[in-house]
Amino acid sequence: MNQRAAGRLDLDRLLELLEQAGMLDHSAAVDVQMKAGGRLRQLERQRERAGLSDVPVSPAELVASFRLPARGAGTVTEARIQQVIADAAGVPYVDIDPLKIDATLITGAVSQAYARRNAVLPLGHQDGRFLLAVDDPFAGDVVETMRARVQEPIEVVVALRADILRVLEEVFRFRASLKGAIAELGETGTDFGNLEQLVRLGANANLDGDDSHVVRAVDFLLRYALDQSASDLHIEPKRQHSVVRLRIDGLLHPVHQLPKVVHAAVTSRIKTLARMDIAEKRRPQDGRIKIAHREVEVELRISSMPTAFGEKLVIRFFDPGVLLQEVDALGFFADELESFRRVIRRPNGLVLVTGPTGSGKTTTLYSALRAIAGPTINVATIEDPIEMVVEDFNQTATNARLGLDFSTLLRTLLRQDPDVVMVGEIRDRETAQAAVQAALTGHLVLSTVHTNDAPGAVSRMVDLGAEPFLLSTTLLGVLAQRLLRRVCLSCREETTLSPELAAGLGLDPGEARSFVVWRGQGCPVCRGTGLKGRVGVFEWMVLDERLRKMVQEGADAVEIGRAAQRAGMRSLRESALKKLALGLTSAEEVIRVTAEGG
Ligand SMILES: [Zn+2]
Repeated sequence: MNQRAAGRLDLDRLLELLEQAGMLDHSAAVDVQMKAGGRLRQLERQRERAGLSDVPVSPAELVASFRLPARGAGTVTEARIQQVIADAAGVPYVDIDPLKIDATLITGAVSQAYARRNAVLPLGHQDGRFLLAVDDPFAGDVVETMRARVQEPIEVVVALRADILRVLEEVFRFRASLKGAIAELGETGTDFGNLEQLVRLGANANLDGDDSHVVRAVDFLLRYALDQSASDLHIEPKRQHSVVRLRIDGLLHPVHQLPKVVHAAVTSRIKTLARMDIAEKRRPQDGRIKIAHREVEVELRISSMPTAFGEKLVIRFFDPGVLLQEVDALGFFADELESFRRVIRRPNGLVLVTGPTGSGKTTTLYSALRAIAGPTINVATIEDPIEMVVEDFNQTATNARLGLDFSTLLRTLLRQDPDVVMVGEIRDRETAQAAVQAALTGHLVLSTVHTNDAPGAVSRMVDLGAEPFLLSTTLLGVLAQRLLRRVCLSCREETTLSPELAAGLGLDPGEARSFVVWRGQGCPVCRGTGLKGRVGVFEWMVLDERLRKMVQEGADAVEIGRAAQRAGMRSLRESALKKLALGLTSAEEVIRVTAEGG
């Protein structure tokens, strides 16, 4: 680490600080010291593999990598270490807000190489001082160098090293492209003839090899969204600028602002890639782009819409890594998984999946179909629209203009000798009856209906016009599902339930006290939310003899639900509580998801 010079914080001094702050006890600190050499070499090799060999491993990263239990509660995370360091130096600790970054200031004050090597990030001016985020406030040489560069007194704040590096990466790659684009576009002013020519030129060139700043900015945005596992990217024109937002795990996050002049160029570039008409800005349009990302082909669906301040684009990502998973990665408990697998391997019958929009139904259906598909089994789907093309399936999209709805297509499809049929959604009488009929005549039919829970799907089918007797002989199982956001593994710590949360979960105070839960404190990995990624939570109702009889006799959803629970069905809430107890999700998530009528 070679950082004894210029007062930089070294491992010994850091361990001392952590002991003084009461975060580590002495024996843990000694243990870290003994293992530090080996661990450092390991981390440095990781850096090299990530192409970051010019960024030294900091003592804080080294200590955090041991994931030691903190005295008191939780683990010794990098964020907590940085807070201790900030306190020791008597300077504030800050969370860096990527939207408040001044790219021009940064690129004007430091070179990328210097900033990366020393983990410094210029933040702006405050009360006549230059605000500088660093990961080591004791690095006097760095502060001195920066003072000389900017010719201003420096105010130091401490931030997370990963935060600083991420922002630097964004600024120097993306913002520099924008700066270049503005320079390019500035010469042409608002001459859209030239602008479109420029954008078209970029479209014909190899994406990676092209030098156009706009092309690089768009490429960066798309890859950035994929790296963040975003499901959608919004580019929204406002009065003064335009905002780029990503939907990650169901929530929108603002990530960038684009100057007005760049907005037009960026949207034109995306429309060109999607083979949309770039001259048409007043009519909504749709298009598609396919890009290779980490050796996987990802499909992007683009839609444009005129708004008061210009054209808004939404890009939806159909990432096979998200949409197509192994059935055992969906989040089933072992007993549910085994039972679900058994049911979807039956040669005929009806399996329904239910839940609100965005609850992961499509992923479950695709994953189930892929588990069944094989050289001897013909899997066919009718979808509205086809969300992802899977070669193993024969997929057909509904088309209202041609009069091809679910029921018409389903009847046609049955003449194509399918073994397994997936019908995107049952929402009318014709489709409900056709699906039951198909299941009755030797096909396995998978579909979705809109209900809050699994027993509700039975009443829904009957309301739609399915004959109770036929339904009772064909329906194999109903899966109700939701997606719970996972607790971030990088910053999670053990905690106990507050009385309010316990009440929200319906636990009595005694029960709640012994209930250990995990909570993410918020870190750059999870963008400060404490949650990252999602996991399915299920209510899996398998129809046994008794339930069949009840369906046939026209029992209502409440009665069926009670009988199913007596037969061992876990309700959505019970499943969610079990996931909470396993530390997979947060108490707030369980309440949010199971309060939505589940
Ligand atoms: Zn986190």
